[in-house]
Amino acid sequence: MTGQDAGSLAARLAARNAAFGPLSIADYMDACLADPEHGYYKRRDPFGASGDFTTAPEISQIFGELIGLWCAEVWRGMGSPAQLRLAEIGPGRGTLMADALRAAASVPGFRTALRPLLVETSPALTAIQQDRLAASASDAAWLGSLEDVPDGAMIVVANELLDALPIRQFAFTDAGWRERCVAVAGDGRFTVCLRDANAAALAAIPATVSGHAREGDIFEMRSEADALAAQLGRRAAKHPLAALFIDYGHDRSAIGDTLQAVRRHRPADPFSHPGECDLTAHVDFGALARSARDAGLEVHGPMPQGRFLNALGLAQRASRLMAGMDDPAKASLIGSGARRLADPGQMGELFRVISLTGPHVAIPPAFEEAAQ
Ligand code: SAH
Repeated sequence: MTGQDAGSLAARLAARNAAFGPLSIADYMDACLADPEHGYYKRRDPFGASGDFTTAPEISQIFGELIGLWCAEVWRGMGSPAQLRLAEIGPGRGTLMADALRAAASVPGFRTALRPLLVETSPALTAIQQDRLAASASDAAWLGSLEDVPDGAMIVVANELLDALPIRQFAFTDAGWRERCVAVAGDGRFTVCLRDANAAALAAIPATVSGHAREGDIFEMRSEADALAAQLGRRAAKHPLAALFIDYGHDRSAIGDTLQAVRRHRPADPFSHPGECDLTAHVDFGALARSARDAGLEVHGPMPQGRFLNALGLAQRASRLMAGMDDPAKASLIGSGARRLADPGQMGELFRVISLTGPHVAIPPAFEEAAQ
């Protein structure tokens, strides 16, 4: 339910519903997050203490630094090409990129070969990223889409991007799978309803899920993530490519309603305050891996974030940073930040890391053990 004025997102969605019928959950999510005027990401900086949530790069500088060093190793595994694009999709405040570039500078030849590209759809966040990187990365460039990256070797990095891409939801009923939708009434009231699912969507529900479905079960699908994997596959057929995605989610496709809303650091109803809440859903890494393999990519992981960061030397980096600090309060923050990223009870298990690589790219660091 929501109060509304004529220009509000709720009023716009009600008009759309009146003209075209209820919205799919994906269309609703897309409008709430990316509407050019009212979308959650389009206008504000949602990160940090004053925003709605915080992310790994904002918790510890070590996160971006280790990813920068991971990229350097991957570049070596590509045969150290003279030019490499490092494209981050959904860079938030630009913190991961800034930390990664600082660490990259310590690897001979890497920073010179590297061109930082930031793929961002939010004008507000683009401005923050430009400000953040102005002094340290004057060679950085901004793109609206990964399609715009020029030919050549590329590494793609995205932290907490996939969870923000819209999902569709399907509910298992006594009449089989049906698609969940949102009906928006003229008074701004939101109701979840069901409609027939199209054949393509039905075919995309894996047999491992459908075979055990019971009435009331919900299955989620994220076509933009599948399309991204397909796009990476097409590019990898022509140019050296590696990608790294970090997000919360599950390793295998499974039943579950994971759509969640956060407003001012508190859980909220996803169907209230449209455009004012961060809406996300867990990432189905099983589905992403299937799409990537179908597109001809090698899949490494998913593995827990804690194991990934520890394999890259999280503890050693934290100790070294702490040893160089005079202020015990600051040193203690470094320690607690590192624990927050890697402890199984905090972000270490819930967050998963997956890497997708094209032909002729060595197995990326931290994934070698899993490959044996
Ligand atoms: N990676 C950052 C921010 C995560 S929030 C961090 O870890 O702190 C999600 C980010 O993805 C935001 O920057 C948002 O504006 C951006 N985003 C959402 N959808 C996008 C899309 N389709 N293409 C590029 N960026 C997108």
